[in-house]
Amino acid sequence: MFPAQFDYIAAKSLDEALSLLAEHKDDAKILAGGHSLLPAMKLRLTQPKVLIDLGRIKDLAYIREEGGEIHIGTMTTHYQIESSDLLRRACPLLNETAACLGDMQVRNKGTIGGSLAHADPAADWPAAVIALGAEIVVAGRKSERSVKADEFFVDLYQTALKQGEVIKEVRFATPKAHTGQAYLKVRHPASGFAVVGIAVSLTSDGSGKCQSCGVGITGVSPKPYHAGGVARALKGASLDGKSLAAAASHATDAVEVNSDLFASAEYRKHLAEVYARRALESAASRAK
Ligand SMILES: Cc1cc2nc3c(=O)[nH]c(=O)nc-3n(C[C@H](O)[C@H](O)[C@H](O)COP(=O)(O)OP(=O)(O)OC[C@H]3O[C@@H](n4cnc5c(N)ncnc54)[C@H](O)[C@@H]3O)c2cc1C
Repeated sequence: MFPAQFDYIAAKSLDEALSLLAEHKDDAKILAGGHSLLPAMKLRLTQPKVLIDLGRIKDLAYIREEGGEIHIGTMTTHYQIESSDLLRRACPLLNETAACLGDMQVRNKGTIGGSLAHADPAADWPAAVIALGAEIVVAGRKSERSVKADEFFVDLYQTALKQGEVIKEVRFATPKAHTGQAYLKVRHPASGFAVVGIAVSLTSDGSGKCQSCGVGITGVSPKPYHAGGVARALKGASLDGKSLAAAASHATDAVEVNSDLFASAEYRKHLAEVYARRALESAASRAK
């Protein structure tokens, strides 16, 4: 299948990309790795007249630690995250998430920014950035703003991005000592996307109790979400099997659970609770 005709412009800088977006408005779309946009164009689900490629802008792909925070540029590929030594030491949740995303071709080209902007309800990155309490830094032509990850995803394939804005980076506080993390996913057997994906970043107080806990869940509802009920149930509690299981039972509190041919709402809820318990157990065992 072929996409409708379009013009292609390789932006040389973020400023140029933002000017082009302002010029072409709704006729234009940003191109990052192309692994969601190009299939959608081939199916004619979207027919932009102009593609503005960020792929030649080298300074949008980076992973750095500065001032107690980790910053990841929007064009950083899934593979660059999977193979990052900095992240393996400071935030292995992200290596772990990247490693179970798509296949090698997808990981080599797809980007974290493209995935977040696309906001597929079964994508993996949203769960991880929500669990980390990350901020999504968004650039407009005249200013920048940052949006909390759990407010960034507004609805099915909808984000808080406004017209003319581009994701610039993801940033979050470097996880503290005694933090354990885990990402567990039930893959859809055909697409590989998450039927249920649970990301946990849990900090112990050093004496076996939970100091804080972020839990991001994808695949379960029309948009990814922070499982506040799980985090609240665990705060201050002992990190033992009983408390972890009790907390995991809140995984789908106040959420509209998806139902489709592969997984009914009841089955998905069950999976979410079971995998939340397993992810919490795994994170707790690493939070020593
Ligand atoms: C076979 C296959 C399997 C896959 N499996 C998985 C999986 O298991 N889990 C998973 O999470 N994903 C999976 N994906 C999706 C993959 O992760 C994509 O790479 C990702 O969703 C989109 O990133 P991209 O860089 O390719 O973005 P693109 O496809 O280039 O762009 C996607 C959308 O985001 C917009 N956009 C891109 N960058 C920006 C930006 N910086 N600011 C604003 N808007 C922007 C584009 O305009 C477009 O609308 C799979 C894809 C394929 C083809």
